[in-house]
This record gives sequence, structure tokens and C-alpha cells, in this order.
Amino acid sequence: MNDLSSQPQPETPEDPAAGRPARQRKPDWIRVRAPVSEGYHETRRLMRDLNLNTVCEEAACPNIGECWTKKHATVMILGDVCTRACAFCNVKTGMPRAVDPMEPENTAIAAAKMGLEHIVITSVDRDDLPDGGASQFVKVIEALRRNTPNTTIEILTPDFRGKMRSAVEAICEAGPDVYNHNLETVPRLYPTIRPGARYYASLRLLEEVKAHNPLIFTKSGIMLGLGEQRLEVHQVMDDMRSADVDFITMGQYLQPTPKHANVEEFVTPKAFAAYGAIARAKGFLQVASSPLTRSSYHAGDDFAVMRAAREEKLARAAAKVGA
Ligand code: SF4
Repeated sequence: MNDLSSQPQPETPEDPAAGRPARQRKPDWIRVRAPVSEGYHETRRLMRDLNLNTVCEEAACPNIGECWTKKHATVMILGDVCTRACAFCNVKTGMPRAVDPMEPENTAIAAAKMGLEHIVITSVDRDDLPDGGASQFVKVIEALRRNTPNTTIEILTPDFRGKMRSAVEAICEAGPDVYNHNLETVPRLYPTIRPGARYYASLRLLEEVKAHNPLIFTKSGIMLGLGEQRLEVHQVMDDMRSADVDFITMGQYLQPTPKHANVEEFVTPKAFAAYGAIARAKGFLQVASSPLTRSSYHAGDDFAVMRAAREEKLARAAAKVGA
């Protein structure tokens, strides 16, 4: 197992014009193809026509060419302006606009037109709303169940600061298949990377989902390359397992603009594989760990694997009891 903290740091050459560090050079394993396919353009048109935002665009996701070509997009509800300002995130910060009442139906129309077997819905933080936006998640889930009953639903929510219990309860009642909430980084880095959030509050949210409905799969992810230490990552895995999280995702943090947090390290594919092996040994039903892993990357395929893993585990447990 590599000690990530001892790996060489990336170069950050000076930008002589601005006197600031220039954009960091990405290693070869991060480079991705430009989004030029017809499928990409069709996905883009559909989102525009239905007035839907995607985290794929707002977060400048490196996988957009691949995902949109396959017509996989992650819809970002509750607008495109966030009430928080996390140091890693490219989404605009400010005072959000009113919630779009057509968003739930339009999301369902998009899922139907794209023929999605699995959809991922996320949102900006809406600390300005009395319920943090939970009721809009519920409406989107209900619209999807009505219009595309065979589509499995994965939601990736904010932490609903100050109203977590009621928000999680309402969303769990609506019955998503997967509830994702990302821890994003190790607790030591929260004050600089995720200053508006609390690590243990996010963990509690994940526990709360299982307490409401143990059948809902839970999922959480962290970004690597922000200066975390190897043992801190192992501790996060243990914390997630203590909260009975089923699926962990680990991907490389990429700096969206020079104003965002620096990449402290480009973690090698080998180190990601080693983290993945540790996570599997710790008992997660599903693990995704690679430089380009994102919460929603290959989410449908991963959901199928996770569901099969649970069925196998239950069958093994039943056989043991019967033996
Ligand atoms: S990985 Fe997720 S956010 Fe990125 S393009 Fe694919 S679906 Fe969108």
C-alpha cells in the first residue's frame, strides 16, 4: 500500500502575468476525450429544451463526453445557484431563484426520452428554503415513479443543515432506490474544503437513511488529492461502514479554476486500486475507486452490481441459518 502523503507533489509553475500559480498540469491518466458526439449534442439539446440543469456541466465533469454520448446525465434540481461556497465546487454561489414547479415533470420527461434504466438526481444546497429543498426531491421521485416506473432512482442530496431529520424522513418515504450523500473529504480538511458542513452531521444523515429504511442502498464518496493522509482515508471508510454505507466512491479531485482549492497530489491509478482493495476488505457491497470516478459515473451499472451483491449476501446468510 502506498503512503500517499509521501508521493511527489505536482508541479505548480508560476503564472508570470498574474503572479499566481498557473493551472496544474494533469497527468496522462486524467486526460479525457472532447465531447463531440451526436449523442452528446442530443443530451445537451434535451436538457436545454426542458430547462434542466446538470451537474455534469455545472461541475465541469471530465466524464461528460463519455456519459452524454451514452445519454447518461445527472440532473441538478433546485436551480443552478448554491447557497454554500465549498472550495472544491464549480457551481455558482449566491441567492438562488424561485424553485421551478415544472422541474419534477420535466425530469421525468427527460428520463423517458433518454430511455434511462437508472437516473441520478442531485441538487444545489438550498439553505434558504424552509425544508432545504427536500419536498422538491420528493416531487421528482414521485414524477419519475408515475412516468417511468421501471427506472431505478438514485438521489445525491445536500446535508439539509438544521433540518436533516425531517428532510431525510420525507425523502425516504418517497422511496428512492439509492440515497447518496458525499462526505467529500476527511474530517481534518472540512474547515478549508467544506466549511459550511460538519463531517459527523453528514455521517449521521447516512445513518438516518438506514434507520428509516434499511432496504434503501446508501452511497457516499470522497475526493482524493486534497492533502489527505492514507490512514485518514481508511478512517473515513471505517466511519462509513459504521453507518452501514453500502457503496463508496473515490475519485481524484480536479481544480475547476485557479480560485478553487489546489490539487495537492495526483493520486496514481495504482494507489486508487489499493484503496479500492482496502474498501472491499472492509465490507462495502460496491466500491468504485479510480482517478475519474465520480458519484454518478457508471451509476446504473454499479447499482446492478450492488443489488446482485446484496442478494448474494442474503442468500449466503439464509443458507448458513438453514445449514
Ligand atoms: S460522471 Fe456524473 S456528473 Fe460526470 S458527466 Fe457522468 S453523469 Fe455527469
